[in-house]
Amino acid sequence: MTHTDILTAAGLTELQLTGGTLSVTTPIDGSEIAQLKMHSVAEAQAQIAAANDAFQAWRSVPAPRRGELVRLLGNELRAQKETLGRLVTLECGKIYQEGLGEVQEMIDICDFAVGLSRQLYGLTIASERPGHSMRETWHPMGVCGVITAFNFPVAPWCWNAALALVCGDPVIWKPSEKTPLTALAVQKICDKVMAEFGEDAPKGLIQTLIGERDLGQTLTASKDVAIVSATGSVPMGRAVAGDVAARLGRSILEPGGNNAMIVAPSADLEMALRAIVFSAVGTAGQRCTTLRRLIVHADVYDQLIPRLKAAYASLPIGDPLDEGALVGPLIDADAMMAMDRALEQAKAEGGTVHGGKQVLTDNHGAAAYVAPAIVEMPEQSAIMHHETFAPILYVVQYDDLDQAVAMQNAVPQGLSSCIFSTDVRETETFLSAVGSDCGIANVNIGPSGAEIGGAFGGEKETGGGRESGSDAWKGYMRRQTNTVNYSRELPLAQGIKFDI
Ligand code: NAD
Repeated sequence: MTHTDILTAAGLTELQLTGGTLSVTTPIDGSEIAQLKMHSVAEAQAQIAAANDAFQAWRSVPAPRRGELVRLLGNELRAQKETLGRLVTLECGKIYQEGLGEVQEMIDICDFAVGLSRQLYGLTIASERPGHSMRETWHPMGVCGVITAFNFPVAPWCWNAALALVCGDPVIWKPSEKTPLTALAVQKICDKVMAEFGEDAPKGLIQTLIGERDLGQTLTASKDVAIVSATGSVPMGRAVAGDVAARLGRSILEPGGNNAMIVAPSADLEMALRAIVFSAVGTAGQRCTTLRRLIVHADVYDQLIPRLKAAYASLPIGDPLDEGALVGPLIDADAMMAMDRALEQAKAEGGTVHGGKQVLTDNHGAAAYVAPAIVEMPEQSAIMHHETFAPILYVVQYDDLDQAVAMQNAVPQGLSSCIFSTDVRETETFLSAVGSDCGIANVNIGPSGAEIGGAFGGEKETGGGRESGSDAWKGYMRRQTNTVNYSRELPLAQGIKFDI
């Protein structure tokens, strides 16, 4: 299929793809595939107003009926899985299998949200007063702005949107300016689904803003956007957190990670090897959960690292639309330069670099394909505290588990982590209060590739937000405590006497 075929199959028209000032390129060969019209700030404000109008109606639609809309969305995504998956690959450069996986994640969260639409439950609480009952109820919160990053161009929108919609909240999406085409394709799917759903879906329920960060800032600044869910770099998370907090709004933050694996002496090294390679080079090292720091016990270092280098040497790097490729390109030349700079710093800090060079410079235009790098470090130095969004795997040795856990926790980010060990004392320590300080801690699987059933997110500079499964839905609703007096007296709490 040509690039044009992929765009056409996803329902994107010539009219949509031309005549604007936002140049969209494909990382596959660096060529321009669209010039999109951008929304203005005034149009963003109009979307916010329309979403608030939609909220007035949508909040009264019964939640299971709202779930029906998300069921239709899931069905349509199933029908368009291949077309959308291919567009994800074209636009952000992840291999087609991962493009499909991303759409599957959207389908999975839709299924989850449909079930949830019948389970938005509160609590009943014992009252200290006779003839009184207390309960907790959950209500729709308002408009949910969703700001997303380039590396997962569609799934994080759906983690937010599927939950927000069943919770009664309209959604406005500001996708990455590097990957707006997938957002346009998804908006088209949503428009179709809303039409099929009928009058209960008010105008302005699901909208998309095409453009740069000023549109994101319009969402974060507006008191009419009740919730801002933001996925991106740590500097972006910090800016969004400040802007939303300044108006005392609610944010759900999903900034970057700097994820580690500890390989203990008892580890199944064959399994560890496979997990390391997938989590370190999948999506060409451009996942928030990418494995960036490998902390290996000195006793198994010489068994594991030569095998890892051999596996890296035979990795098929190439056009992510080709079935054989396991590593696609970086998003752009800036990402490759950031990788080069990090490798130079690592060398200056005593590291020995294997791989990391640009490859496939012939016949791939201005694309940025790199050989994933392994960097053996004498210790966890400054560069390892930093998330470089590229396939660089730093490797260090440790001698005892406390030291390894301290290293794992010493970085500013706190997203994902894991240990490979068959010693239950070690694995339980790793998962305990004195173990990993991350939002995600795994045993005998890598740090990337989460399922949607669990809450997703992390601590420290990873922002503390939780999305997707478990009770993350509570982030999209407002909690109300109700006390009902069904007696004929009016006793005060805490036994206070106040007779008039
Ligand atoms: P980025 O921070 O450059 O941009 C992300 C989005 O934020 C874009 O849509 C951008 O327009 C918008 N934006 C930027 N500054 C803004 C501001 N001040 N106010 C409002 N919006 C603003 O990130 P990126 O390069 O697209 O993505 C890579 C980063 O995202 C990595 O750090 C990665 O770890 C992180 N990420 C995190 C998660 C997670 O769930 N924790 C998931 C995917 C990616």
